[in-house]
Amino acid sequence: MAIALTGLPARFAPQRRPRLARAFALALALARSGNLAHPAAPDVAARARMLEDIAAMAGATAAETGRAAISANVMAAMSRVPRPRFVSPPLAASAWDNRPLPIGEGQTISQPFIVALMTDLLELRAGDSVLEFGTGSGYQAALLAELVANVYTIEIVAPLGRKAAATLAALGYRNINTRIGDGYAGWREYAPYDAIMVTAAAPEVPAALIEQLRPGGRLVIPVSGSAEVQALLLLHKQADGRTLSRRVLPVRFVPLVRGAPAK
Ligand code: SAH
Repeated sequence: MAIALTGLPARFAPQRRPRLARAFALALALARSGNLAHPAAPDVAARARMLEDIAAMAGATAAETGRAAISANVMAAMSRVPRPRFVSPPLAASAWDNRPLPIGEGQTISQPFIVALMTDLLELRAGDSVLEFGTGSGYQAALLAELVANVYTIEIVAPLGRKAAATLAALGYRNINTRIGDGYAGWREYAPYDAIMVTAAAPEVPAALIEQLRPGGRLVIPVSGSAEVQALLLLHKQADGRTLSRRVLPVRFVPLVRGAPAK
């Protein structure tokens, strides 16, 4: 079973309504918890529906992912980050749907369930320093920034990187460092990282990233099996520097590109 970036298998069509009242109550509770970095918005019900859909999908994929639920702190962060701000205005109305969306330059913002799962797999702690590539819209970076102390994110397509940096600044994120460049080599200056996330499909795990991961750290990356589908790989670097990895779920990501950043 593949979680597609461009569409979803029918069994994962977002579930609707009967649980809406419960979802609404959940969102309201989150909004009132004082935990909300951004003030409660009128789209509170849409946010709650997205959380419900993510939870349903986490349950449906539990046998493969090994986790029945996304942890509460990641879910709370998912409800705080305003996804509509990371897409173009015509798409904003559907930005709380559990679907991937185009972000320009032929790239996509991943389905929220995949964003939540990849984040959860990293088992982040508040003081962590995390490296991500590619930045894309900046949405994933914002989610990480809600959970950890420092986020470093690299994007190879310059216009996307610049736009993401502007969006993140406008939203007031001060713990995200953005850079235009090829993420394949990592970002040596701020290494080692407690966790690393790659959000474009790679032919293999880049050696530089393993080097820049702190012993005990985790790395999540979609690795190409075929041109169409990749395996989401979770790698754990042991205290002695050796790595253990497991395939978590079939996924579909845009391919990583190499070389000089596109202008
Ligand atoms: N995380 C993003 C979505 C990622 S889409 C978000 O939340 O919106 C994949 C992104 O990886 C694209 O923007 C693509 O341009 C970028 N990318 C591809 N190859 C790259 C590389 N070698 N280095 C940095 N970014 C890269």
